Amino acid sequence: MKEHFANLRSLQEIDNEIKNLRERLNELPGKVTEIQKKFEATKAILEEKKQLLQESKKQYKLADVDLRAAEEKIAAYSVQLYSAKDNVQYKALIKEIETQKKVKNDIEDRIIYLLESIEKLEREIHEMEKTVAQTEADAQNKISVLEEEKKELEKAISERESQRTHLAGLLPADLLRRYERIRISKGGIAVTNTENDRCNGCLSPIPPQRILEIERQDKLYLCEACGRILLPAEKKTHLGN
Ligand SMILES: [Zn+2]
Repeated sequence: MKEHFANLRSLQEIDNEIKNLRERLNELPGKVTEIQKKFEATKAILEEKKQLLQESKKQYKLADVDLRAAEEKIAAYSVQLYSAKDNVQYKALIKEIETQKKVKNDIEDRIIYLLESIEKLEREIHEMEKTVAQTEADAQNKISVLEEEKKELEKAISERESQRTHLAGLLPADLLRRYERIRISKGGIAVTNTENDRCNGCLSPIPPQRILEIERQDKLYLCEACGRILLPAEKKTHLGN
């Protein structure tokens, strides 16, 4: 029985390791997604600025057309001044010229603003393109590291699964079945130690007489509170934690 208990303990240790390794493996896709999202967010800001630049350039072209139209009007009215029939017509033309000059000034202010915006955006885009390239390289590196980690974890799991198969084969079938049943219903922990007269799985107290019986290891004892298999705390393990 003692020998079976030792194997049972080892089986539990391997199952704990497999559980931990699987948890780490399951965290990897989320980490990759997070890295990709961060990169996509940086890229999205760049794309936004590029669109804004295009829009500003379009506005600039339109303003330039308006500017030319205003200038042409001013020129045309100025020519008409020479052929004004009377004072009324002359004053009306002067007023039109003044109006168009004001329109022209407003357009010129707008053009200055647009040119400054375009220059600023082009500078920002140039800087951001470097940042995005760097972020992409960083993301690729981090993802490569995670892919490497994935391979290592899968290898470690596969190794432990082989060990597990071997150990499970050494145990009597009924003991193994019992172990599996308890493990499934008790959050992965079927075998636990006694520690300071308590079950290490659920921390319920165990009577001193039962502790002595458990230490003899000639019979299988289950914790009366949680139903886990109780083994003496003979060596330093982390079972039940
Ligand atoms: Zn217990």
